[in-house]
Amino acid sequence: MDQCLLSVIQNIGEAGHKTYILRTYSDQQFNATGTLKKYKVKYVSNTLLIGNNGQPVPAQTNVTILADGTNQVEIALNPTFFQTTTKEWVSAVILHELAHGIVSIEKPALNTNLMQHTFMFDERFPISIAQSLTELFPGIDQHDAIALGIDGLSEGYTIPGTNTINPAKNTFAEEKYFQNLNQAITAANRNAIAGYGTVFC
Ligand SMILES: [Zn+2]
Repeated sequence: MDQCLLSVIQNIGEAGHKTYILRTYSDQQFNATGTLKKYKVKYVSNTLLIGNNGQPVPAQTNVTILADGTNQVEIALNPTFFQTTTKEWVSAVILHELAHGIVSIEKPALNTNLMQHTFMFDERFPISIAQSLTELFPGIDQHDAIALGIDGLSEGYTIPGTNTINPAKNTFAEEKYFQNLNQAITAANRNAIAGYGTVFC
């Protein structure tokens, strides 16, 4: 495991993972009780990671159910994507992947990235991500934290098959995320580059 990546994962810690998962269950009104609600999050580092789209990607998540019913969320991360980024951005990537894991478990009918990204955008997952980022990086600007939560969800707010922002989603972003989507994209990009936030390594 890349040592810098390990330090970001350890910074989130067991407590941070638990808080984020429980917060997401609460925000989404998912039923958090029962024997099938145990989580184990496993991280693997893979510098040759290829996504479902056939392209190199920074992260990819798969869920498997272990023999005792535990939901194992395996998050593969590609540290080559992270070397010139910030701890804030890498943490946001991890929380985004964890959201995929939770959605896969709680909303199995949403079985494509497009469906999951749309759900995450519409159901305000960026707010849950922003709250965890604020716990991890107390000085982070709130608009930036939400923008980092929106990062990676472009499929969920563009007109399908294009890069054009859906105007209704932009209005939604202004109302629920306190910024328009171009502002969010700019803020996320700024926060992803080493020098603005906490350097990755
Ligand atoms: Zn995603």
